[in-house]
Amino acid sequence: MRSLVWFRGKDLRVSDHAPLRDALAAGEVVPLFVLDPYFFAKERAAALPHRMQFLLESLARLAQNIAHLGSRLVVVAGKSTDVVPALAAKWRVDRVVAHRWTEPFGRERDRRVEAALKVPFVLYEGELLAPPASVLTGGGTPFAVFTPFSRAFRVQCAVSSPIPAPRKISRVPDDVVADEVAIPTLAELGLADNPRLLEGGERAGRDRLKAFLAGPAASYVPDRDRMDRAGTSRLSADLKFGTVSVRTVWNAAKDALGGAADQLAKFHDELLWREFAHGLMWTRPELLKEPFRRDFAGFPWRTEPTQWDAWTAGETGYPVVDASARQLLAEGYVHNRARMISASFLTKHLLVSYREGEAHYLRYLTDGDWAQNNAGWQWSAGCGCDAQPYFRVFNPTSQGERFDPLGDYVRRWVPELAKMPAKYIHQPSTAPSEVLAAAGVRLGVTYPRPIVDHAASRARFLKVAKQHLGRAG
Ligand SMILES: Cc1cc2nc3c(=O)[nH]c(=O)nc-3n(C[C@H](O)[C@H](O)[C@H](O)COP(=O)(O)OP(=O)(O)OC[C@H]3O[C@@H](n4cnc5c(N)ncnc54)[C@H](O)[C@@H]3O)c2cc1C
Repeated sequence: MRSLVWFRGKDLRVSDHAPLRDALAAGEVVPLFVLDPYFFAKERAAALPHRMQFLLESLARLAQNIAHLGSRLVVVAGKSTDVVPALAAKWRVDRVVAHRWTEPFGRERDRRVEAALKVPFVLYEGELLAPPASVLTGGGTPFAVFTPFSRAFRVQCAVSSPIPAPRKISRVPDDVVADEVAIPTLAELGLADNPRLLEGGERAGRDRLKAFLAGPAASYVPDRDRMDRAGTSRLSADLKFGTVSVRTVWNAAKDALGGAADQLAKFHDELLWREFAHGLMWTRPELLKEPFRRDFAGFPWRTEPTQWDAWTAGETGYPVVDASARQLLAEGYVHNRARMISASFLTKHLLVSYREGEAHYLRYLTDGDWAQNNAGWQWSAGCGCDAQPYFRVFNPTSQGERFDPLGDYVRRWVPELAKMPAKYIHQPSTAPSEVLAAAGVRLGVTYPRPIVDHAASRARFLKVAKQHLGRAG
């Protein structure tokens, strides 16, 4: 039996790779990656600079790992819907194996590939802990609320152990020839290396997992919301690109935190939020275009170019919002609490559509993921899947004071406020003039005054939402 193991951008690893394991057990193996010229083009790379860097690095490491195991990652250029069926026929493979994707365009691609193939196309679970939307309510439907979902997941799903990496991968058969191409470098795609991004690849991902479990994991509950602390795993890009499988992360956390049930439960819950977001996308792919709450359809979002520019550049005059915007552009990552505050500010204080923010985040986040990003933005905008009502409006000042109490997160990303005392760092516009002078801050000159008033913006959002939802209801 000859299997074509089709690696895609969400399983860039050799460990816990069920398609690879089964292909090896069955006989000959051809590991393949297809470089779509649409995606791996300069214009596209420029639009996704951080994800592209992580992806190229992870892909290069995957090729090295496969080479160390005795085989070769065959890399060809073309549209996968053409290339995979053509190569499967040319190389006379008996089947094509790959991991399932949950996003609608991935599903459509796989439908087309399957229709064009003359041999079986076997899709494995592996992006998630359990098949998407397989955890069901008593009534047999997928969950629409997180807490009962997470409870049911733990009852209904047993997460099995990850599959170890193979010791050896047999050589690619000699008759497998193609116009192979090299994995492009960042420079070839017109991008400069950004040293602030996390390193890609399976080894770096495993090291991150180890470091998290040996340190911050033990105080995950108190620290995960602290924007000034490195209290979370930073595994989101690894989970996005599959350099480490979610099953590996789940089990390693269980082994390491067995005696710390609260920390483990909370961390597992976050992995289940990921699971939940992908399940939602699977059940309702239209969520990429429409609000989860149908009564939010047609919501009167505003277009405000000046305020939009201030939000994206980190010049709103709200320090936490500004820190998060600058962190995003600089290192392709934003702390979860800062994402929530910033997304709430854009949608509720500025009344700009969550879809604009969603697209901006997707452009710059290294972990930018269609399902999780969409769920995060819809949740923050009040139109998503949330047990809380839409009228929770985060106060960026008090959120900052609570989750960045000394102001260190702000100081790191908004250096013009570095000398502000903690008492005023989250609201420099209320600081006495001598405090501002001592910190070298000139409002409106070195740091902007708030572009909107919190109380007035909150009241405006509530009024607009009430009117709209009243009409919709
Ligand atoms: C507006 C907004 C946009 C977001 N966009 C993305 C995105 O594009 N990609 C992405 O991976 N996450 C997204 N999140 C969720 C969350 O912010 C990140 O997963 C988290 O900050 C990543 O850091 P970490 O790996 O250190 O997380 P940890 O706290 O260590 O969590 C472990 C893993 O659990 C998952 N996870 C954690 N929190 C969430 C959550 N709220 N929803 C879904 N999964 C979660 C992630 O895969 C994460 O790596 C978004 C959240 C918001 C509010």
